[in-house]
Amino acid sequence: MKTAIYPGSFDPITLGHLNIIRRASGIFERVVVCIMPNAGKLHPMFTREERVALARRVVSRFPNVEVDTFDGLLAEYAKTFPEGAVIVKGLRANTDFENEFQMALINKKINPELDTMFLTASQKYTFLSSSVVKELAGYGADLTPFLPCEIIDDVHERAACDPIQTIFHRLRRNTLWEETKWTTKSWNSLTSFIPWCRRHGACRSATKNASSSATRSLRSSMRSRPPCRW
Ligand code: ADP
Repeated sequence: MKTAIYPGSFDPITLGHLNIIRRASGIFERVVVCIMPNAGKLHPMFTREERVALARRVVSRFPNVEVDTFDGLLAEYAKTFPEGAVIVKGLRANTDFENEFQMALINKKINPELDTMFLTASQKYTFLSSSVVKELAGYGADLTPFLPCEIIDDVHERAACDPIQTIFHRLRRNTLWEETKWTTKSWNSLTSFIPWCRRHGACRSATKNASSSATRSLRSSMRSRPPCRW
């Protein structure tokens, strides 16, 4: 079999996913990462189009890997490869095994030609999932050990679409501090500003009359940001 389909929601693509992609690309002539909707994950961090764009940016380093998307059943998608294809999945733990085993049997039932192959997760990524990354991003944590470097900023940006998180995240990374050369007095005004901001529920109105360069740059970076969806 020459083609492998690696399906998932990839919201966002992590180093665990990338590890499976890299290994599959060494085994198969062609690997198609297929980004699919997941009925169990109602509030994705990124839209499907955004996830496709992020994954494309990351896999561009592999000449035999491409990214596609499909709305229907995986077993039906596999039929669109006339030369045949095999499904590749990553297995992290027992819980993955039970779900994936059931899915493999269902896919085989719908499309008897379709086989599923499992690659065991690399030990260093067995703990890693997109959900864990999203949670960490919400706290402004360093995502370098979990995400491909090409998409770290996108995930931080999206996680920071909550204005309160933006302020804390940027303070934690010291960028706001450096930008404004703030003093302890500024810190005190900021901490009194946050409960006010929470009470009014929107940073845009909270920063309407503010004049400092920090709030101005925060306001402009939030203007283009979509609302939080996860
Ligand atoms: P998740 O949201 O749990 O990361 P996905 O639907 O994006 O799940 O996962 C797609 C495929 O990648 C699944 O086969 C899943 O088991 C596998 N996978 C996810 N994370 C890892 C990891 N850290 N290591 C290996 N395989 C993984």
